[in-house]
Order: sequence, then C-alpha cells, then structure tokens
Amino acid sequence: MDQQPLLEYLIATGPTVIFRQTADGVVSYVSPNIERILGYSPEEVVGVPGFWAARVHPDERDSFVAEEQTFARGETEVERDYRFLRKDGTYSWLHARTHVEYKDSGAVDAFLGYAIDMTDRRSVEQQNAQLFAFPLALIFVAGLDGHFKRVSAGYQRLLGWTEEELLSRPFFEFVHPDDLGMLGASIQGVAEGPTEVVNQEIRARCKDGTYRWLMGSYRPVLDEGLIYGMAVDITERKRTEEALHAAREEAERANRAKSEFLSRMSHELRTPLNAILGFGQLLEMDGLEPRHRDSVQQILKGGRHLLDLINEILDIARIESGKITLSLEPIVLADALWEAIDLIQPLAAEQGIELKAEDSWPPARHVKADRQRLKQVLLNLLSNAVKYNRPGGRVTIRCPDLIGDGLRVEVTDQGAGIPPEMIDRLFVPFERLGAEATGVEGTGLGLALSKGLMEAMGGSLWVKSVPSHGSTFFIELPLSEAPWTTGEEREDGERVATQSSLSSHTLLYIEDNLANLKLIERALDHRPGLILLTAMQGSLGLDIARQHRPDLILLDLHLPDMPGEQLLRHLHADPKTQGIPVIVISADATPGQVQKLLAAGARGYLTKPIDMSRFFQVVDEALAERGLARG
Ligand code: ADP
Repeated sequence: MDQQPLLEYLIATGPTVIFRQTADGVVSYVSPNIERILGYSPEEVVGVPGFWAARVHPDERDSFVAEEQTFARGETEVERDYRFLRKDGTYSWLHARTHVEYKDSGAVDAFLGYAIDMTDRRSVEQQNAQLFAFPLALIFVAGLDGHFKRVSAGYQRLLGWTEEELLSRPFFEFVHPDDLGMLGASIQGVAEGPTEVVNQEIRARCKDGTYRWLMGSYRPVLDEGLIYGMAVDITERKRTEEALHAAREEAERANRAKSEFLSRMSHELRTPLNAILGFGQLLEMDGLEPRHRDSVQQILKGGRHLLDLINEILDIARIESGKITLSLEPIVLADALWEAIDLIQPLAAEQGIELKAEDSWPPARHVKADRQRLKQVLLNLLSNAVKYNRPGGRVTIRCPDLIGDGLRVEVTDQGAGIPPEMIDRLFVPFERLGAEATGVEGTGLGLALSKGLMEAMGGSLWVKSVPSHGSTFFIELPLSEAPWTTGEEREDGERVATQSSLSSHTLLYIEDNLANLKLIERALDHRPGLILLTAMQGSLGLDIARQHRPDLILLDLHLPDMPGEQLLRHLHADPKTQGIPVIVISADATPGQVQKLLAAGARGYLTKPIDMSRFFQVVDEALAERGLARG
C-alpha cells in the first residue's frame, strides 16, 4: 500500500479529526471521521463560514474567541479543550491543537489542526469533580510520597484549610502527633504489602489548632503510587464517648464516697446503739419492777426499730451502688416459704387473719437465691398482707409449679388494695401511701428493699391489685439444679454446752471503748463461772493473751495502737496463742468485712449493737468446743 491511502485510512478510522481553515474562519478541509465523532458529513462542514464558532459550547465561547486573539499576537500553536455541539444536539469534548500559518506580511494565512474526542475522559473527570465538590464528602487522593494530591471541598471546609495549603505540605503535618505512629505504620504496611482497605480513627488538625476525629478508610493503588481515601467525621461521637467515660468515672468515684460514708455511718450509729440495746437487755434480765420493765421494753423496742431502719437503709444504699453481697445457692423454695409462714403465723393469729397455703406446691424444686434475703422478702410480703388486710381477712399463698424456667410465689390478701396510680410509689423508699395515718406500724422501706433484693438475685417482684378487693404480690426466681447432697449434716447436739461445763474459763476482751467493756462485764455477770480479763490496747491485749492463754478472746477492730485485724494475725502466728478462738465484735457490718475476718481466722463475728442472746450463744459454743477439746 502506498503512503497516501494508508494515511487516509488511519485518519478515517482514528479518533483524531484533522482540519484546515482559512483566515476568515471557513473550513477548507476536514477529515471524513468527523462524521463518526460529531455526526456531520465533511460536506456539511466545508465552506461554511464560522462553523466552529457557531457550535462551541456557550461556556467555552469566550476562550474560543480569546484563542483567535492569541493568533493575532503572533503565536503559532494553541492547545485547548472545548465542547462542540454534535449534530444530534448533545455536546462532545474535543481536545484541539491548532497550528497557524502566517503570510509573509504577518497576516494569518490558514489554521491547521486536529481535535481528539475526549468525551469519555472528561465525563469521568466531571463526575469526580462533582463528588469532590460535595459539601459533606470527605474524600482525598494522596501520593505514597506523603502529599495530598486532591482534597474534597468538604474536607477543606471541615478543617478550615484551602486545597493549596493541604497540598503544599506533607499530610503528616495535618495529623495529631499522637496518631502519627499508627498512621505511619499502616501506610508503611500498605506500601509494602497487598493492597487492602485500611480503616483507622485519627485526629486531623484544623487550621484553628483544634482537632477533629476522623474515621478514615483508604486503599492504596500501588501501580499509580496513590492512596484513595474517604473519611467520616466522628468528633461528636468521640466527645459523647469521652463525656460518658468521664461521667462513669465520676459516678464510680461518688459511689465509692457513698460506700465509705455508709460504712462510717453504720459504725457511728451502731456504737451508741450498742450501749442502748446492750444495757437495755441487761436491765431487762435484772428482774426490775413491772413499771421499770415496761420502760426498758419501750427503750429496747425503739432501739431495735432504729437498728432495723439503719440496716434497711444500708441495704437499699448497697443495692443502689451495686455493692450488695449475696450468697446465691440452690434453695428449696417451698422450705423457705414454710419457714416464713411459720414466723408470720403469730402476727396473723394476733390480728385475726387466716394464713392459707394452697397445697400442690412443687415439693423439692430449687431456685437460686440468697437464703436470708429470700426469707426477708417473703416475710415482708407476708407481713404486709397481714398488716394491710381487712379485719378477719385471709392471706392466700400460692406456689405454682414451673413458670417458664422459674418458680413463682403469689401472696394474695383481702385488704383495701392499691389504686393503679399509686402502684409505682409502692417501691419508693419511705413511701407509705398514707398508711402512716392509719396507725399500722412500718417504715415504708420494706417493698423498696424487697424489689431491689429480688432483682439483685436475678428475680423479680411485682403486684396486681384490685381496689377494695385486695392485692397479689408476685415474686419469681430462676430455677436451679439441686446441689450435691453431702451425706449427713453435722451433728450439732454435742456442741451445746451446759453452764456447768463453763465453770473454769477465762475470757479476754480487747476493746478501747469503756461503755462496751462495761456492757460485756455486766453481761458476764450472768455467767458466774467466767473470769473476764480486759485490755484497752492491742499490744497489751497481745501480752495478756500470751501470758494467760485465755479460753476465748473477744476482739474489737478499732483499737488505738493497731488494727484488730493485725492483732488477729499476731495471735495466729504465735504458737502460744494460735489455738485460742477469737470472736470479733465490730460495728462494721459490711459483709465484705465479715468475710475478710472470718477468712483471716476469726472463729465468729458479732456485730454491734450486740444481740445478747446471740452473744451468749456464740460464747457458749466457742467455750464448749474448747472444753471438749481440752477434756
Ligand atoms: P411499710 O409496710 O413498712 O410501710 P412497705 O415498703 O412494705 O413499707 O410498703 C409500703 C406501703 O405500701 C405501705 O405503707 C402500704 O401503704 C402499702 N402496702 C404494702 N403492702 C400492701 C398490701 N398488701 N396491701 C395494701 N397496701 C400495701
């Protein structure tokens, strides 16, 4: 093939339109492929004056005119992108390169040029431009050389930098110093390894010196040497998280302060109560004349009420702060229920209320609960059902078999019921819903505490009530497997000592509070065979214990020269004293403290105010064991 037809073939099939135009703007030649590219045949173009000028897109008309002026200044080459109107009415992007030939006189002779169809490339660019212009889109292109190449308008607006500023410096300069290590490592990683998307939370530096948290997601395209990325502004979320974290810390701090306060309050209130109740009980035993005995009984009643109140408030506060210690174990629900019914029976009889336990109870099903706490709840519900019943009314107790995977107890009374709008207030501490005016005794703490306890044990408590017909209180607890039975229970009978076996025992009481010492002294008047030694300091107590080897040591925890717990350890470490049982007597009734001292080797733990019958029981048991061991 000779050269001419080859060139013509290449031009006709290629993407480049070749043209020639006279100085006055008339096209004198155009290659035939114009038809494929713009839809006009060469005949429709050649010889038409101002053909291009009439078809250039209005947005580019000015620069088209400017181009003609460029030639007037003697330029020979111009390169530009223009949109031209196609025959079908749409526009195509053409990249045009025009060469001008001048006459000897300097006037323009003709224009020679070619134009390439750029429509596809331009439209991709335009789409990109659209995306990058979105006010909220945070997108960027960066080079593996550490510089941004392009940054969206939204990115610039968010951080306050212009694109020039962002492109002019390494992008590391726009990142929080603490995040640089992480960012550097991940970029290093993607530059070396397989090209994966990396997600990272980093702080981007704003022009005003503040930082915004961005959740960035980027992917490197290694053969382009570029990283394409987008980000989401998560500053608000981070701030909320930080505020929540701070609030949680503050709440925990406040909780700790509250627990400490409670523990101190418990101690401070119980110590004087100890004297009131202790001496009151001793007076009661002293064979007073009836008038005085009555007064003492009033004092004791008031004191016990106060003690109950303190205990309940402490419990509610502990539940609220999540500090309640429960010992959850499998318990036969029916047994706990029977025990509670037995205990309430006298109150019911006194008030003329019938207690009716419906039979068909699931006999030996276990629930997971704290035995004491569960009994406390049952007693509260049963005593309320008696207290708030109608005269001669009935309390019905049901325990239906298996509700889902739990067991339920229902206590129904025939009292006045509770109006629906008051139901929620039932569980508010100190709320008595007007019962205070009726003369029925109470504190308004029982239900608040019971509900809290049930929930802490993983169960629930709720009520249904029909005004003027009565109420039903429900509790439900999760079912539990039966525990292993460990053969015979311990035989306790032998350990109960008779008084005569105590005849030659010595007891050491280490306590710095005179009122408490006197109380125990007086109490032991009721055990004539016992010799009481006392020490008001820990070190003295230790000496006496070593010299006299008493049969039992009563130990207060708050001593002037050493903590009682430390003294306990000394006693245990010394071969002379390690066999002596120690009973701790303390106003600190927090379960954690009790556990701690029992674990440290205390034989028993009595809380102040001392319950005298419990005191004698514990002392007698410890001494009897000792007596047997000696004998
Ligand atoms: P308390 O009995 O010491 O007042 P509770 O917390 O046990 O405290 O009960 C709170 C209040 O709820 C009671 O004062 C009483 O007004 C009401 N209430 C409790 N149980 C019943 C019941 N079975 N029927 C009617 N009202 C009740």
